[in-house]
Amino acid sequence: MKKVFTIISLLVLVIAIIVITKTVLNKPVIEAKAVQLAPLPTGAIEHLSEAITMATETPNDLFQYDSAVFFSYRKFIEKNYPLIHQKLNRTIIDSFHYIYEWKGTDTEMLPMVLMAHYDVVPVETSAVKLWHAKPYGGEVKENYIWGRGVLDDKSSMISILEATEAQLREGFVPKQSIFLCFGADEESNGRGAAAMVKYFQSKKQRFDLVVDEGGEISTEDNKNITQPVASIGVGEKGYVTLVLSVQRAGGHSSIPEKSSAIGILSKALHTIEENQIPTRLTPSIKAYLERISSYNNNFIEKMQLSNLWLFEKLVLKNMTKNRSTNALVRTTLVPTVVNSGVRDNVIPTNASAFVNSRILPGESPKSVKEYVEKLVNDTNVKVSIYPNYETMPSSSTEINSPAFKRVETAIHSIVKDVVVAPMLMVGATDSRNYRSISDGVINFTPLTDAKGYHGIDERLLISDYIKCFNYYTVLIKGSK
Ligand SMILES: [Zn+2]
Repeated sequence: MKKVFTIISLLVLVIAIIVITKTVLNKPVIEAKAVQLAPLPTGAIEHLSEAITMATETPNDLFQYDSAVFFSYRKFIEKNYPLIHQKLNRTIIDSFHYIYEWKGTDTEMLPMVLMAHYDVVPVETSAVKLWHAKPYGGEVKENYIWGRGVLDDKSSMISILEATEAQLREGFVPKQSIFLCFGADEESNGRGAAAMVKYFQSKKQRFDLVVDEGGEISTEDNKNITQPVASIGVGEKGYVTLVLSVQRAGGHSSIPEKSSAIGILSKALHTIEENQIPTRLTPSIKAYLERISSYNNNFIEKMQLSNLWLFEKLVLKNMTKNRSTNALVRTTLVPTVVNSGVRDNVIPTNASAFVNSRILPGESPKSVKEYVEKLVNDTNVKVSIYPNYETMPSSSTEINSPAFKRVETAIHSIVKDVVVAPMLMVGATDSRNYRSISDGVINFTPLTDAKGYHGIDERLLISDYIKCFNYYTVLIKGSK
């Protein structure tokens, strides 16, 4: 008995030594580079401000663009970026999506893509009075540019154009060809990006780097880290909506059966909510945690993150406490629409619901459906996949890839003491289409704690605009 106790004590001691050593040795490697930001070119603020005044609201599913607005946006681009229109080849895809090709001197090199979208989500009429600026006023005040679309995603598009025009003015000639791709329907159906990728596929064109919106800089998300954290999106979750339907005889509400369609469906939805798909760490989230762990000021948290081999379960449990981090470690399931009933005295024959799911890499729409069927385990509940909208989780760009490293270096050159880490994107962007023609798709824009996406008071810090301009400039110059 004494021997067993001694062995266990020794084992605990060895584990404790390993854990503490790993924690103490996990030191941050800050790439302290001098950060020198070039000022915005003359007129850059006015240009972005004017871009906001054009309400390029995203078309609905029937391709219904407000053509007048979209045409004036094109005129505005042509007028303000003359060198781009002189020296780059423009291809127009399906009326309002634009591809600009800036030919490099080395035709052997795979080109890169800088992409953005310029459609915006509509402003709710009832929300206008809550804004502190006119949503389409393009106002510049309190160090911000205000308005719908200024973050998502006109700041990217206009910064790309400003950076390109500035380099053309300086006579810069890239070695690697650069494509600028601007979509006009990212916020609705994303057909533009799909059509542009089809165009590239028809030319057998591949890319070594594709940069799109997505990850950003946060100084607020990690309360135990003092440095800003730049999260580079390297992959996207998948998407599926399940349809749950129950059919019963129904009838007069005065003589109900023991169970109704609504009751059966409710029970199924409750079961789903209470029994979510188990959590796990995907490679990109594991890499994210490993990267940020050394900067953590809280010893206990740092110890857990530095020793995932021992504390993975605990870390996962902690991540589920916050809805943003919960979404990073599991395939989510949430009911979004419920339909049933016509009158208060009629027992309905049908009850149906949509359950939306965002899928972690390694799972699929099919596996999500199977999980739900098995969980609900009721032959009265039919589970099917809502057609045409499901997508597989995307592949992930490697952290050791040249694409990741190039963007990482660019971020270090514009943000002081920044911690750069890979991130899984929980939403979808246009760039998912490009994964079929590039192994280097990266989602990142250097916006800091940006607020107002799709909501009220969407506004861009002018200092972030400067960062965006410099970020794209560094990427363009890196093509030499
Ligand atoms: Zn966007």
